Amino acid sequence: MSQRYSVKLCSAAGVEHYCSNRQYAHVFHRSGVICLARRALSLPAEKFFGIILHELGHLSLARSPDHTEAEADQEAYRLSGIHIYRGSDRNGSDLETIHHRDVNRAIAYITKRTDLSVEDQ
Ligand SMILES: [Zn+2]
Ligand SMILES: [Zn+2]
Repeated sequence: MSQRYSVKLCSAAGVEHYCSNRQYAHVFHRSGVICLARRALSLPAEKFFGIILHELGHLSLARSPDHTEAEADQEAYRLSGIHIYRGSDRNGSDLETIHHRDVNRAIAYITKRTDLSVEDQ
């Protein structure tokens, strides 16, 4: 089962980001959709794609709704082989991030699993 998900900008995600600056995305709002705050578009690639991988981890664990943030990271690793770690900077604390060397692999995985297209890498 490899459902293809959509990635969309969502005004509710924008409000969440306004209320909590480390919040850039959510899932389980609209079925099959990863919702992004518009501000996510100006994140560095390591964070932008790290967040989307993390959200794919959440979606994959949809049948166990009590899973933790760490479990979503682990599931993203299980799915993609890309390690998500956490970093704090002006973009937010404990924000998902991936290593720079993994960005192209993350793009390859994400564009396979979602409708996000990346023309300028
Ligand atoms: Zn949403
Ligand atoms: Zn999460």
